Amino acid sequence: SSKPSDTPTIFSKIINKTLPAKILYEDDKCLAFSDVNPQAPSHFLVIPKKVIPTLSQATDNDQLLLGHLLLVAKNVAEQQKLEKGFRLVINNGPDGAQSVYHLHIHVLGGRQMGWPPG
Ligand code: 5GP
Repeated sequence: SSKPSDTPTIFSKIINKTLPAKILYEDDKCLAFSDVNPQAPSHFLVIPKKVIPTLSQATDNDQLLLGHLLLVAKNVAEQQKLEKGFRLVINNGPDGAQSVYHLHIHVLGGRQMGWPPG
């Protein structure tokens, strides 16, 4: 039977290189690539290669992986010269405005952000 975790998203195609993306960083556990519809001068996504559809579906077994994603996000932000600051966002579920059901961290920078977000 088909579970949500079996359902491939567009990000699975980016991971397996059947869909091109501007890849900024890759290792055995994760991938960082430019967002195709950037909301800031610098906008990239950090995703685990493991399919976790939403943050809500992450478990204690994912603790090291989730920490790794945060460290990759700040390391790539540094590579991208976002020394004046940047923002991390995780959209979770329908009210969180999540559109791709493969966990991802947005990293946005290169301009002054507003707060609170809409
Ligand atoms: P969400 O709304 O799920 O948090 O964000 C999904 C993000 O993925 C959006 O910012 C959207 O622009 C980006 N995205 C969707 N499809 C593609 C794609 O095929 N390639 C890339 N690079 N980004 C994508």
